[in-house]
Amino acid sequence: MKRIFNSLVLVFGVFFSITAHAQKPKLIVSIVVDQMRADYLTRWADLYEGGFKDLLINGEVFYNAHYTYAPTYTGPGHASIYTGTDPRYHGIIANDWYQPESQDFMYCVEDFDVFGVGEGLDPSASQGKRSPKNIKSTTWTDELELATDGASKVFGFSLKDRGAITAAGHFGDGAFWLDASGFITSTAYMEELPVWMQRFNKKYSPDSYMKGSWDYARDRSLYPSTYTNAYERAPKGAVSADFPYDLASLYKAGGIEALKASPAGNQILVDVALTAVKSEKLGQNRAGVTDVLAISFSSTDYIGHATGIRSHETMDMYLRLDAQLGELFKGLDEMVGADSYIVVLTADHGAAQNPRLMEDVMPTANWYPADLESELRSLIAKEGVPSEAVLNFSNEQVHLDLKQLGDAEVDDWVEATRDALLKHPAIAEAWTMEEIRISPDPFAVLRRNGTDKRGGQVYFSLHPGHLSYSNDGTTHGSGYTYDTHVPVVFMGNGFNPRSRHNERIGIKDIAPTLCKILDIAFPSACTGNPLWVDAGWAD
Ligand SMILES: [Zn+2]
Repeated sequence: MKRIFNSLVLVFGVFFSITAHAQKPKLIVSIVVDQMRADYLTRWADLYEGGFKDLLINGEVFYNAHYTYAPTYTGPGHASIYTGTDPRYHGIIANDWYQPESQDFMYCVEDFDVFGVGEGLDPSASQGKRSPKNIKSTTWTDELELATDGASKVFGFSLKDRGAITAAGHFGDGAFWLDASGFITSTAYMEELPVWMQRFNKKYSPDSYMKGSWDYARDRSLYPSTYTNAYERAPKGAVSADFPYDLASLYKAGGIEALKASPAGNQILVDVALTAVKSEKLGQNRAGVTDVLAISFSSTDYIGHATGIRSHETMDMYLRLDAQLGELFKGLDEMVGADSYIVVLTADHGAAQNPRLMEDVMPTANWYPADLESELRSLIAKEGVPSEAVLNFSNEQVHLDLKQLGDAEVDDWVEATRDALLKHPAIAEAWTMEEIRISPDPFAVLRRNGTDKRGGQVYFSLHPGHLSYSNDGTTHGSGYTYDTHVPVVFMGNGFNPRSRHNERIGIKDIAPTLCKILDIAFPSACTGNPLWVDAGWAD
């Protein structure tokens, strides 16, 4: 994206002089841990020996940080972290959203106008046709690029395209995500992979990570005594959810998806990130210019979905990520200098308890999505809404075909659909789009923040702890605390070690906080506020 700035300079002959600010960090390391619940930071605190321990000892921890919208998914979460606003304004209203005109789905980082870039990758293959074009706001990384006239180096890495693209924003230098042959990108960023990335892909091929076994990282007695195997789905490539896993067998059966769901997925990200720091000389820019290393660790999400939040696998994944983060920080200390970078760590959403694991004691339940939809469709039909007018159920929304309804009947049928949903035992609340627009009710506000005019006509929430998913493992997406509550930690020069904050904050507060540290404009649609951090950056 540097070319945009070069042409601006040529056209206008403008050269900005950046005032050196001795206290600005040379590098911001922005870490997102996919599906990390807030309690994961504290639940295993006694066992952490690496990066999480470092963050707890040397960081400022916000214990009460929440998403301020629903549905809570990966695309919207990452976009909110980087834009400092809700999906209502940044436009990433789900991972995939229904489009009534074409009756198909738009994927959040899909872009048919760009092509994939990667060795052996068919440029027209869908996994490369990705860009940030659906993000309607600038990100804090964009504002940094704009403020430094493109001098800042901004790179995003993830196993997931949306985890990397949302971080690099519209003006970042590169976003890279993992494909079968290694990391790829798209023509939204560059025409070919940097030489260092080509070398990395050759030397650190995905298969080279899938050797040996994945077994308990620590003594078996440290893990919960109760097995949750009956509520777990086997990770990709495995036949059952049991340690030890033979990584070569997993890879043989599950390919790259098996790597993503194993600790190797997080390791390859640490390795590529440190390679990028070295090759791109991140954190060594000219005085006053800050670079960005953004990493979204997603193996935690894949294993969480498969085995749930109480499994030995999930716990072990975090103990290993703790060590991997330790390795990352050690590498950054050596290459950038411990006093020269700051770290911010958060998550894109939490996750629920497996409802079947709880249902003997609590009123929770799981409904298969297809069953729930068919039961809801019958209830709606009973209210007299023609079945062909009910187009789609997704993201806890119902899309109705308004063209099929006469003008006079639209409101009646939308309300009839809402009332029909409320008759189902799994449904706690339902609203029309109109009610969501005006209601001060906190849950209606979460929905309002999570959608825009592309949303459905009727919205609903299941009861707390209820899921519409497979019977095993877990998922996320609701507006309840288990999905909105995630950790936020800032660490590095200027932050107070062991500082703890219990006040409720929004995840959208992260972006303006970083902008304040950098003395740059807030993202264009930012609705968050800078956090009070007793950092030496201000003034
Ligand atoms: Zn996620």
